[in-house]
Amino acid sequence: MYKKSKEAFKNSCEVIPGGVNSPVRAFKSVNCDPVFFESGKGSKLYDIDGNEYIDCVSSWGPLIFGHSDRETISSINLSSEKGTSYGAPTLIETEMAKKIIEMVPSIESVRMVNSGTEATMSAIRLARGFTNKELIIKFAGNYHGHGDSFLIKAGSGALTLGLPDSPGVTKNIAKDTLIAKHNDYKSVEEILEKNKDKVAAIIIEPIAGNMGLVPPNKKFLNQLKELSTKNKCLLIFDEVMTGFRVAKGGAQEIYNVHPDITTLGKVIGGGLPVGAYGGRKDIMNFLAPKGPVYQAGTLSGNPLAMNAGLSVLNRLNSDIFENLEKISSKIHSGFIKNIEETNTKAIINRVGSMMTLFFTDSDRVENFDDALNCDTDQYARYFKNMLDMGIYLPPSQYECCFFSTALSDGDINKIIESNKIALKNLQ
Ligand SMILES: *Cc1c(COP(=O)(O)O)cnc(C)c1O
Repeated sequence: MYKKSKEAFKNSCEVIPGGVNSPVRAFKSVNCDPVFFESGKGSKLYDIDGNEYIDCVSSWGPLIFGHSDRETISSINLSSEKGTSYGAPTLIETEMAKKIIEMVPSIESVRMVNSGTEATMSAIRLARGFTNKELIIKFAGNYHGHGDSFLIKAGSGALTLGLPDSPGVTKNIAKDTLIAKHNDYKSVEEILEKNKDKVAAIIIEPIAGNMGLVPPNKKFLNQLKELSTKNKCLLIFDEVMTGFRVAKGGAQEIYNVHPDITTLGKVIGGGLPVGAYGGRKDIMNFLAPKGPVYQAGTLSGNPLAMNAGLSVLNRLNSDIFENLEKISSKIHSGFIKNIEETNTKAIINRVGSMMTLFFTDSDRVENFDDALNCDTDQYARYFKNMLDMGIYLPPSQYECCFFSTALSDGDINKIIESNKIALKNLQ
């Protein structure tokens, strides 16, 4: 069934480290070899062995309208006919900026970059430059791309100094990142008290999606806003995953909390490599060439990427989000029924079209420790079983499903039916 993919993986491992260009793709945490894809159409993915899958990952979020969406493709084609890059200003960049400002409540000015990683790295440099302070606070289990400052784990206590998560991140960089406990504002308050007037920014995934989906507890984001204002540090919402995905204006629209800086990615490029960061005008004006904080990019604001992204953003109205909610809540309630009927120890976290099924005997997953308690072996078996039935899920317990508007009622029923069989098979 996966003969060609197996062969392809053997070949890619000869020339690409670990055979992949981004680690999760190697399927390591689900204990099997990765599938190599050839094409996608609507809700379906096709691998090189000719297997068809219903896609529940949507390229980790960007593909709101499913694969090879006509409008996205034709906007890319039209744009490419005129040239692929100028390294000079174009009108579409202003159009993109205006669109983002119109959609995201707290953004008054915005800079385009090429990935989410670049957006978060640049955002903390800007925060440090603007506040003239050096430390940042991040939360255990939050992912902000692979910038050195973010690859820091909690250590034993929530308030200990960070230790590098990866060789190559120096101790000196790691010590400038302080780790707080997700959904626990007291842990943030304590860090701020111990490091008075030294913290430049608090960065958070307002709806965390990189330890599986973990929504914020009631008031948590408001409390962070209060703490950051009181301590004269900036609040950064990393909405690379949630921006234009959970609502038109992202998580900040849903919870009505406005950060000082927002980072964006994924959906913003409609499947092409784009990131952005924006926020209060007085802060953004600190960037070169207007201000002293340097940040640049040869391909930033690339016309193909801007056109692809805008073709998606321009269509994101309330109907689309209602539709996404309808699709996602059907799958959600179908799964809940299956979990109950099969007596599986599992719970589901969901916000809009982002959802994670956690295999746990606890009744909640609200921080990194809770997430680490999940049964990842069980997830691995569940994943493989679903894959064999033609349902493509994220290849890790610590990721979300992202549903697209391309899912038909037939697709939804097949996802729910397969889930029931897979849960039964686990017993
Ligand atoms: C995906 C992601 C990033 C990194 O974006 P890349 O485009 O992969 O560099 C940063 N933050 C969050 C919250 C993400 O989900």
